[in-house]
Amino acid sequence: LCPTAALTEVNHIPKVWEALRNPRKYVVVQTAPAIRVAIGELFGMKPGTIVTGKLAAGLRRLGFNKVFDTDFGADVTILEEASELLDRLENGKTLPILTSCCPAWVSFIEHQFPELVDIPSSCKSPHIMVGTIIKTYFAEKHNLDPDDIVVVSVMPCIAKKAEAARTELAIDHRNNVDIVITTRELAMMFKEAGIDFDKLPDEDFDYPLGETTGASVIFGTTGGVIEAAIRTIHEWKTGKSLEKVEYKELRGLEGLREATVEVDGMELKIGIAHGLGNARKLLEEIRDGKSKYHAIEIMACPGGCIGGGGQPYHYGNDEVIKARQRAIYQEDERKSVRKSHLNPAVLKMYEEYFGKPYSEKAHKLLHTSYSPKERI
Ligand code: SF4
Repeated sequence: LCPTAALTEVNHIPKVWEALRNPRKYVVVQTAPAIRVAIGELFGMKPGTIVTGKLAAGLRRLGFNKVFDTDFGADVTILEEASELLDRLENGKTLPILTSCCPAWVSFIEHQFPELVDIPSSCKSPHIMVGTIIKTYFAEKHNLDPDDIVVVSVMPCIAKKAEAARTELAIDHRNNVDIVITTRELAMMFKEAGIDFDKLPDEDFDYPLGETTGASVIFGTTGGVIEAAIRTIHEWKTGKSLEKVEYKELRGLEGLREATVEVDGMELKIGIAHGLGNARKLLEEIRDGKSKYHAIEIMACPGGCIGGGGQPYHYGNDEVIKARQRAIYQEDERKSVRKSHLNPAVLKMYEEYFGKPYSEKAHKLLHTSYSPKERI
């Protein structure tokens, strides 16, 4: 925090209370993968305590009309991003593909490497996808006017507040996520509401955008997005069930990692970076024509979103990050479905609304573009 108090965090809690008090508004909340392994720390629990069920229960008690999970959007992201990678590989298009879930990193490339803005995946980030799906597919299905819906995202991240306002992500001039609050702000709301978080029962998220897979929860840690994508690409390419879904070679906490993964006779070279200093090294290689990778995952924060700027403070303690990361992988292991392309609610949505991944409609609603920004 700023020692002179000249800088303070933007607090969006009053906006959420205002929306919840407005009887004309249908207020929907979604929560990112990394929240469930960290928010317990603000209620005296040990780092890495998994509180997914209490989180859903607490949000419901705050009065939201629907309690959804950003993990649903992570599964959709995988269907879209895996399709995009295969399209680029099979049609000789630009490589490497760069993941695009992290708005701090997207902003970094726009400002620092404006000549490379055609390289990131065009997929919107998972919470923006969920907001878009709520105000289109879900609204149509439930006969709701999108202008009456307020979408609140609970994120481990401060950069997501600015991301939600990006005009490039709007549909028909309407932004699809209205308010973003951080993990710390949500904990504050539970306290303001007098909710005894640690005594809450375990509840489920609401259907359909609460149905998720193990692949989606690992988005919360560095390496998770690319591992989830490989699980899907492997099954799509081979047509065979992948028995061992863990790609341990993609895991870890080193700032720069690389691995080669074999998929249907094809050797995919993967790069992973967390921290923008590490990202810069990989981007300089691309700019200089020296990159050997087909796909690169980049997250701005140490450890990925588990170490995000909106999470409970960890004061540089690596043990906290490690405990949160272990919890993310445990949460993946206990899910009955661990591959994004097998999420039944996602498949139903494609059947009813988008047709198939990477379709024209999916492109219009779930993808975006980036533009060079002034170098800072
Ligand atoms: Fe936000 Fe950090 Fe996650 Fe990027 S890595 S999305 S900046 S929390």
